[in-house]
Amino acid sequence: MRIYDRKNTAELTAIVCNKCGRRIPVIKGVPQEDALHVEKSWGYFSRKDGERHSFDICEECYDKWMAGFEEPALTEENVELI
Ligand SMILES: [Zn+2]
Repeated sequence: MRIYDRKNTAELTAIVCNKCGRRIPVIKGVPQEDALHVEKSWGYFSRKDGERHSFDICEECYDKWMAGFEEPALTEENVELI
């Protein structure tokens, strides 16, 4: 869950993990920990047609979630261009 400044609604101030509730501070627009952000617009062949869901998961909860996957997530190394 993303928390925005009440006055400047475009300014992200914190990320709260939807799984464990832990708050990750955002200082000057930079989250102090990386987290997974998911946005999903459900479509016609679902029971949630027309709904848009979004959530954030901290890295610790992500690791626990992934450990329960029958098939592991595809993992590739990012290649940074110079
Ligand atoms: Zn968490």
